[in-house]
Amino acid sequence: MNIQFGVDYYPEHWPVQRWETDAKLMQAMGVQVVRMAEFSWFKMEPEEGKFNFAWLDQAIELLASYGIKSVLGTPTAAAPAWIIERNPEIQPTDPQGRRRHFGGRHHNCQSNEVYRAHVKRFVNAFAEHFAPNPNVIGWQVGNELGNSHNELCMCESCEKRFREWLEKKYGTIEELNRRWGTDFWSQGYQNFAQIQAPKLTVTGVNPSQMLDWKRFHSDLIVEYHQFQSKILRHYAPDKWITQNMMGFAETVDYFELGKDLEFSSHDQYPSMNMVREKPQYLGSEGAGQLDIIRGTKEQTFWIMEQQTTLNGWYEVSRRPRPGQIHLWAMQSVAHGADTIVFFRWRSCAFGTEQYWEGVIPHSGIPGRVYDEIKGFMHKNGTLMQEIKGLMPQSEAAIVFSYDQEYAIDIQPHHPDMKYVDHLMTYYRALYRQNIPVDLISDQSDFSRYKLLVAPLQYMMDPVLEEKYRTYVKNGGTLVLTMRTGVKDRDNICDSERPLPGGLADVVGLKVYDYDCLRQLQVKVAWDGKEYICDKWCDVITPDTAEAVACYASEYYKGTPAITVNVYGDGKAYYVGTEMTPDLADRFITEVGAELSLGETPDGVEITRRMGADKAYYFVLNHNGKEQMVNIPEGWQSYYEGQTMPMPAYGVYVYTEKVGK
Ligand SMILES: [Zn+2]
Repeated sequence: MNIQFGVDYYPEHWPVQRWETDAKLMQAMGVQVVRMAEFSWFKMEPEEGKFNFAWLDQAIELLASYGIKSVLGTPTAAAPAWIIERNPEIQPTDPQGRRRHFGGRHHNCQSNEVYRAHVKRFVNAFAEHFAPNPNVIGWQVGNELGNSHNELCMCESCEKRFREWLEKKYGTIEELNRRWGTDFWSQGYQNFAQIQAPKLTVTGVNPSQMLDWKRFHSDLIVEYHQFQSKILRHYAPDKWITQNMMGFAETVDYFELGKDLEFSSHDQYPSMNMVREKPQYLGSEGAGQLDIIRGTKEQTFWIMEQQTTLNGWYEVSRRPRPGQIHLWAMQSVAHGADTIVFFRWRSCAFGTEQYWEGVIPHSGIPGRVYDEIKGFMHKNGTLMQEIKGLMPQSEAAIVFSYDQEYAIDIQPHHPDMKYVDHLMTYYRALYRQNIPVDLISDQSDFSRYKLLVAPLQYMMDPVLEEKYRTYVKNGGTLVLTMRTGVKDRDNICDSERPLPGGLADVVGLKVYDYDCLRQLQVKVAWDGKEYICDKWCDVITPDTAEAVACYASEYYKGTPAITVNVYGDGKAYYVGTEMTPDLADRFITEVGAELSLGETPDGVEITRRMGADKAYYFVLNHNGKEQMVNIPEGWQSYYEGQTMPMPAYGVYVYTEKVGK
C-alpha cells in the first residue's frame, strides 16, 4: 500500500455534520490516511460491556468514500471515569506513595490486573469489530507508551511484579544480595518479599537496585504492549502494528519495543527544541530524534505526529515561519520517514490541548497552514514513492544504549551531565559536517561502519568488550570516551584493574585519576590552538597511545586529553572529557572528514537516502535567511527552480547516479 500523507483526526470532537467538509478538505490536500480513536474509550464504551462503535464506523466509511484509509489506536491511554470510580486502585502511585488521579490522561498503572481485565475486555471487542474492515489498515497500541510514566508506577502491583522479575533474574536472594552489594548500609535481604520499589527514601537508593528498577519498568511497558498486540494480531493477522515513539524518551527501551512492531513511528515536534537559550531551531536536535527512531528497527519509519503549527498546553511555542512546516516535514523525510501524518487535523476548541494547534484553526476555515501542507503533499508524493524504504547507508554510527543511559542518569557525576546531551556533542559535530550517522544499539552489527563512536560505555561486559576489540582489530575507527569500563552490568565498580578496564590495550592507555569540573572549565591545546572542555577530565597515562590533544590548565596540564592508538588493522581514539562544540568540530574533522557529503553554511544540512543506482540528497536550510550552498558536481536537481541562493527555510533535492 502506497501511503505517504495523513493527519491525526478526532471526529468525536466535532459535530457529525462537519465530517464531510473535513473529508473533502483532506482529500483536496492530499491526505491518504488518518489516525483516530486513541483517546476515545468513553465514547466507545460508555458503560461496561456496552460498546458503541457505530460513530467510528461512520467516520471510517465516510473517509473511505474520499479515498482515505484509517489507522486506529487502542484508546487505553485514558481509562474512563466509570472505570476509575469502580477501581480507583488502577490509578498510578508515585515514588512518595501518592495516587495520581483522574482528570488528565495516562492515569493508569500498567501492571494492575484489574486494569488489564478492563483493557482485555475492551481491546477484544474493538479488535473483533474493526478487524474485518478493509479500510482499517493498521493499529497503534495506546499512545506514546512510557509517556508520563517516568516515575510511575510504584504501587503494590508493580512492586509485586518487580519482585517476580528479580527472582527470575537472580534465582536466589543470596545471588541478589551479592550482585547488588547489599553489605553496604546493611541492606541485605532475607527474601524477595522484603524488596521494595525505589520509593522515596531518607537518602539515596542503592544504584544497582535503581538500575534494575528502570530495566524492569521498561520490560513492563514492552510486555504491556505485547499484551495488547497479541489480541490485535489474533483478530487481524493481516494488519500491521506500530507505535508512536518519542525520539530520545528513555522510559522504555525502543530497541526492545520495536521487536513487537512491523515498523516504528515517531512524534516529531521541532519547536519543542526551541528554548530561551536556543530561540533559533537547531536542525541537529530534530535530526537526532529522527535518527534514533530509524535505528530502533534499522529501517525506515512513519511520522505519526508531525508538527503543523504553534503548540503547547499552558504556554505555547513560537509559530513556525512560512516555509518552516514544509522544511520540518522534509527533514523527517530526509532522515528516513516514508509517511508523514500531521498532528492534528483541526485545533480543538476544548481540553488541555486547545493550543496544540492543527492544520485547520479553531474557526474551521483553512488558511496558511493548510495551504503550506497541501503544497508539501502535492509536491513530494512522487519523490516519496521513489525513496520508500531507502536508507542513508551511513558510514558512521553512534552506539546508543538505554542501559548506559539509565546508569548515568542514576549517577550523573556532574550535575549537568546527561547521557543524551553527552552523546549529542558527537552527533551535533557529525551533523555540522554533513556526515550521515546511524544511531544503533550495542547489539547491532558494527562491521558496516568505518567510524564508530561509543560514548560513555560506563558499564562493560566481556561480550561487548570483545565486539569493540574485534571491530578495531578488523580495521574500524573506534571512539571511546571518559567513563568507559567503570562498572559491570550489575552497576558495580570494576575493582580488579585500572580504568578503562578490559579495553585498556585497545586504546593503549590507563586512567588512574580523574576530575569533575564543578564550576570549572579546562583548557585543551591541540597543535598550538586552545579549546575549552567541560564537566569531566580523565587524567590519562598512555601506554602505546599517542596524544592528539593535551590539557592546558589544572594540575594535569600537559597530559593527554584525547589520544589515538593503532590496534590491529584499525585505530581507537579515547576522549577523556566532554568536548565543547569547537573542540568537537576539530575532533570530527580529524576522525571522519572523508565521510562528509559536503560543506555547507551553519544551519544548512545535507542528508542522504541511497537507492541501488541513485542517491537522493536533501539540502535543508534551517536559517531564516537566504543561503549560498555549493552543490557538488554530478548532482542533478530533482525539482525545477533550485537556484542559488536558497530561500529561507528552503528545501532542495538532488540525485546522483551511483553504482555501475
Ligand atoms: Zn502500578
